[in-house]
Amino acid sequence: MKVNAYAASEPKGKLAPFSYEPGKLGSEQVDIKVSHCGICHSDLSMINNDWGMTEYPIVPGHEIVGEVVATGAAVKNIKIGDKVGLGWFSASCMSCQQCMEGSHHLCSNNEATIVGRHGGFADYVRGHWSWAIPLPEGIDLSKAGPLLCGGITVFNPIILAGVKPTDTVGVIGIGGLGHMALKFLKHWGCEVIAFSSNPAKKEQILKMGATKVIDSTSPQELESIQGTVNFILNTTNVTLDWDSYLTALAPKGKFHTVGAVLEPMAIPAFSLLGGEKSVSGSPLGSPALTKTMLDFCVRHNIYPTVEEFPMEKVNEAIKHLEDGKARFRIVLKN
Ligand code: NAP
Ligand code: ZN
Repeated sequence: MKVNAYAASEPKGKLAPFSYEPGKLGSEQVDIKVSHCGICHSDLSMINNDWGMTEYPIVPGHEIVGEVVATGAAVKNIKIGDKVGLGWFSASCMSCQQCMEGSHHLCSNNEATIVGRHGGFADYVRGHWSWAIPLPEGIDLSKAGPLLCGGITVFNPIILAGVKPTDTVGVIGIGGLGHMALKFLKHWGCEVIAFSSNPAKKEQILKMGATKVIDSTSPQELESIQGTVNFILNTTNVTLDWDSYLTALAPKGKFHTVGAVLEPMAIPAFSLLGGEKSVSGSPLGSPALTKTMLDFCVRHNIYPTVEEFPMEKVNEAIKHLEDGKARFRIVLKN
């Protein structure tokens, strides 16, 4: 078997056609014929080696949907012909405390789809059966890819924080992850505030269900909501005035980041103490919660707002994201 893919061979490098031999299929692995693959900001960070863990050549792509075309002898729960999704994780050990508790995304021996192996900007991709998530009947394949990374990454914190329908919540950064968070929280029943740095997005943000848009870079504007927000989710990877967000939290409020902010985040202790506030973070979510989220999406017709590019135009698509022009998630189609 030969996989035809697109790979970058150096930091900030353009992607070029690249093919590789995946070798013998492992007994617990499946091969997936990729139909669509979303582009996450993490693909960009990995191409650029922002996190110091990229191995070149790198085939990015970890918001994959497609059809199972081969299964190892010990694969459970999945058969050839099934439509599945594969996200950031492509395997976990299945025996540690975290895996046994159903938190496979917290397994310390996790394999990530694009770290030291090749991802979904390709015609085929491989993964362990446990992370090949069966897609619910009737899901729109052209829009489902981004749910497998961006979607579950913002869905999991809503569950972790125990967000209630009566809560006032906020989302910082209305890009790929942020816009999916807005849609989830609106369907949860919450009053949703969007924090965005781009006034050109305002109208679309309000249409997605936010009741208010506040400039994410303006501590002055944030003062207007002091002490009122129960839960704030950060999806940006830049440094903002975090203390203003802690001040916007209501007593017992929770600030959660999924954005991979590179610099240390300044969190003054006194902004947490008085109101019993907390700060946390998380990576994606478990395979079981991913499946639950997909069912929730189909039931409520929640999909990312996507722009589709053919796989061959991957470099144009990446530039579009880099320039901040994606509205709101780019999906590559084979
Ligand atoms: P994205 O589509 O590029 O969206 C990021 C948003 O952040 C932008 O749309 C923008 O929103 C805001 N932003 C960017 N630069 C800014 C600046 N200088 N000042 C203020 N706001 C700015 O990225 P994404 O794919 O949603 O990913 C977001 C982050 O999550 C990345 O760091 C990614 O690596 C990380 N991530 C983490 C996990 C995890 O498991 N925790 C999973 C997936 C992704 P506005 O235009 O509205 O301001
Ligand atoms: Zn991602």
